[in-house]
Amino acid sequence: MTIERAYMDHNATAPVRPEAAEAVARVLALTGNPSSVHAEGRAAHKIVEDARVAVAALVKAKPAEITFTSGGTEAANLALHAARNALGIRRIVLSSVEHDAVRLAAAHSGLEVEVLPVDENGIADLAALAGLLDAPGKGRTLVALMLANNETGVIQPVAEAVAMARAAGAFMLTDAVQAVGRMPVDFVALGADMMLLSGHKLGSPQGIGALVWRDELAFEPLIRGGGQELRRRSGTENVPGIAGFGAAARAAARDADAYTRIAELRDALEAALKAAVPDVRIFGENAPRLANTSLFSSAGLNAETLLMILDLDGFAVSAGSACSSGKVARSHVLEAMGVEPHLAKGAIRVSLGLANTRAEIERFVQSWARAAVKARAHDSGVKTGAPESASVRAAASSAVPA
Ligand code: PLP
Repeated sequence: MTIERAYMDHNATAPVRPEAAEAVARVLALTGNPSSVHAEGRAAHKIVEDARVAVAALVKAKPAEITFTSGGTEAANLALHAARNALGIRRIVLSSVEHDAVRLAAAHSGLEVEVLPVDENGIADLAALAGLLDAPGKGRTLVALMLANNETGVIQPVAEAVAMARAAGAFMLTDAVQAVGRMPVDFVALGADMMLLSGHKLGSPQGIGALVWRDELAFEPLIRGGGQELRRRSGTENVPGIAGFGAAARAAARDADAYTRIAELRDALEAALKAAVPDVRIFGENAPRLANTSLFSSAGLNAETLLMILDLDGFAVSAGSACSSGKVARSHVLEAMGVEPHLAKGAIRVSLGLANTRAEIERFVQSWARAAVKARAHDSGVKTGAPESASVRAAASSAVPA
C-alpha cells in the first residue's frame, strides 16, 4: 500500500509554483549573459529587470532597491557587511528569536552584539528596546527584528520598533523571509532601512533571494568582481532563479487572498489538536501569527522520534527548530520564550500552503496523537525524565484507529 504524502513544511521550503517553473524553463531554453550587449544578452537583462520589478512590487519597494542574492542568508551577511562599512554601524541589537542567518552573521560581523528579549508569546520587548537604544557613546546602532518568525509564525511589531530606532538615530533591518507572500509586506510603510527576502519560501526555486536596501543609503558590496547588480553583488546573475523569483512574486501577489482559507485550516488544526490532546501547548498562540504556521507540543515528547513516525505516516513537517544532518537542534526561539525544556523538546511545526486540505489536517491530528504514544514508548528506554501526558495516551487509544 502506498502512503499518501501530505506536505506541511512550507516554512522550510514551498513547492515551486507552476508559473515559476515555466519561467525557469523559458530561461533555460535561451542563451545570453545579462551583461552582454548583443540581442541575446539584452533579452537576459530584460528578464532580470522584469523580475526585479515584480519582486519590488510585492514588497512595495523601488526596483532599484532590490539586489538579488543567493538567498536570505547571503542577504543577511551582505546587509551587515554594508551596514558596518558604508553606514558606520558599530553595534547591532537583535531580537532573541532571529533566524541563525542573522544571528550568526551578526556574531561574525565585528559589530558589538546585544540581544533584545521577547516575552512568553515570542514578541519583542519594546520597553527593553528603549533601554538598549538609550546608549550614549556606544556608536551607531542597527536594530534587527524579523517580521515573522519561522518557527512560531509570530509577527513582530516592526513598524513600532522602526519608529523607536529612528528617534534614537539607529538603523533598522527586518528579516521578511517568512512574511513575504504570507502577509502584506510594505517596505515603505514599515520604514525599515533594509529587508531580507528569500524566493523559495514563496514558490521560486531554491538559491535565490534579495536584499532590499533603502535607496538613499550608502552601500558597500561583499562579493566583488564584475560589478553586476549595480555594483552591489558581483557575479553573473542566476537568471533562471531570478526569473523564477519574479514569477513566484507575481503569483504570490495574485494569491494573497488564499491566506484567509489557510488561516481557517490552521485554526481547524489547532482546534482538533486541543480536542484530541487537551494539554497540547500552542506556542505564540496569543500573539499575531502568520496564517499558515502552528508550533505545538505536549509534555514529555521527543520531536526526533515523532518526526520519524509522522514521516512514515506520510507527513512532511518539522521540529521546532531546523534539523541539520537529521538531528534536531535545541530551539533558541522556544528557549527565548521561556518554554520548559521538556515541552520544547517535543515541538512540532506544521506550516501549511495552498494545496493543503481539511482531510489532510484531520489525518494529521490522528497521526500525531498516535505518534505521541509511539514516541513515548520508543523513548521510554532512553528515559526523558519528562512527565507522562495521560491525555495523549487516552486520546490516541480512544479516538484514533490503530
Ligand atoms: N530568515 C528566515 C526567517 C528563514 O526562515 C530563513 C530560511 O529558513 C532564512 C532567513 C534563510 O533564507 P535562505 O534559505 O534563503 O538562505
